[in-house]
Formats: sequence, structure tokens, C-alpha cells
Amino acid sequence: MLVIKGRRQAIRTLQGWAVSVLLEADAICECEAHGWLQDRADPQARARALVIAREQPPGGVSVEAAVAAMMEVLEGIGDACPECAAEGA
Ligand SMILES: [Zn+2]
Repeated sequence: MLVIKGRRQAIRTLQGWAVSVLLEADAICECEAHGWLQDRADPQARARALVIAREQPPGGVSVEAAVAAMMEVLEGIGDACPECAAEGA
């Protein structure tokens, strides 16, 4: 069993929250074939997700931390699925 403690767990949870809000706002999507997260590059969807982060940050998390986590997740996601890109090459 994987044991994650303290600070790391909080960060993982916050990233998971950011991903779920971004999915809900249609700012990102999952590749149907491979499950990779893809940035939809939709400014309105991103704005919707940021409004949720500002108005409803997860419990015990500051608005700044919630928005920062969301931006971090977006930065880490490409606009194409790497496996689809490899197949097309
Ligand atoms: Zn794919």
C-alpha cells in the first residue's frame, strides 16, 4: 500500500480538486482512447473554472492556493494527447 503523509497528501488532494473543477468547467478533457488529460485552450471555460476556485475553494484552502493549484495543473497539461500524437506521426 502506498503511504502518503501530511503535506504531500494535501497537495495531491488539491491537484485532484483542481482537475475535477477543470473537467467540470470543460476547460480540460480526457482523451477517450487513452485517458490523458488535454487542455481545451478555451478561455471562457478556464474563466469559469477560476470563478469556481475563487468562490468555492476546497475546505481549509485559501483562494490563492486554490487558484495557484489550478494554474499549476493547467501548465502541466498539453493541448493534445501524447499517445494520439505518437500514433499520428
Ligand atoms: Zn489519445
